[in-house]
Amino acid sequence: MELEKVNVKLPDVSDIDLGYAAGFYEGEGSVCSTNDSSCCVNITQKDSEPLVKLQELFGGNINLYNGYHYWRLYGDECKAFIVLIFNQLSARRRKQIEKYENFFYSIECCPNKHPYEDGSFRIVDDSRGRIHRQCLICAKAKNKRKNTPANRIAIEYANVSGMSKEEAMKYLYPKKFEEDISDEDETIQ
Ligand SMILES: [Zn+2]
Repeated sequence: MELEKVNVKLPDVSDIDLGYAAGFYEGEGSVCSTNDSSCCVNITQKDSEPLVKLQELFGGNINLYNGYHYWRLYGDECKAFIVLIFNQLSARRRKQIEKYENFFYSIECCPNKHPYEDGSFRIVDDSRGRIHRQCLICAKAKNKRKNTPANRIAIEYANVSGMSKEEAMKYLYPKKFEEDISDEDETIQ
């Protein structure tokens, strides 16, 4: 993999910490694919302490699920982590990562093609410990749509008529009804 071509900001991490992280990943880590065929880094531990250290160094999220802690890195943080430790990994580990080679050279986007950049999305996790990336541009547009008077009227009409909100919307505003932006957040496994 041509790591020098990966366009990403690298965190400032000492050689000792990089060695620690590489060794830890070698023993305990994995790459997992997300549903947009990009990848994430995952390390699962019973004890959260070493994961907190990794989070301090490289970012990412730690989730507790079924008694285990999951540290996961997505997007640019994932790219930066791999770029920094790649050369210290075994051939087997490198091969696993190289399957996602395209991800490392791409700019990731939400389903509506807004690029995921620093500050353009937030990570939300659901009750089952799954993580979603929520595009803030789409979330803002969605919120705006929800707050229109037409929408409030449709909700009231739906309550009275027994229609669903979508049906009420179509019934009341047949011309206006148009779903311009996908409501789907991206789910990452
Ligand atoms: Zn978006």
